[in-house]
Amino acid sequence: MIIYENAFSELVNKLDSNKKNFSSTKWAISMIKELVEQATPKKVLNIEEFGAFDFYEMIGKCPKCHKALNKHHHHKNCGGCGQALDWSA
Ligand SMILES: [Zn+2]
Repeated sequence: MIIYENAFSELVNKLDSNKKNFSSTKWAISMIKELVEQATPKKVLNIEEFGAFDFYEMIGKCPKCHKALNKHHHHKNCGGCGQALDWSA
């Protein structure tokens, strides 16, 4: 998360000093946008449920990096890219 903190302080410093260095300001904004997108839950792709009685599994694919996911292990975030996940149908 250090890169996002750096992006945010870069943006704040630029706004404070009011210097016209647009490329680094654009970079800082794009980093924050990426963080916001990663933290916003996205629907898991190709969800499949199987099992019976007290054992069941729910699997799917990450909407961002397409890594195979198992709800038991990746309930909130993708293990590959960190994307926040929404397992609702
Ligand atoms: Zn992913």
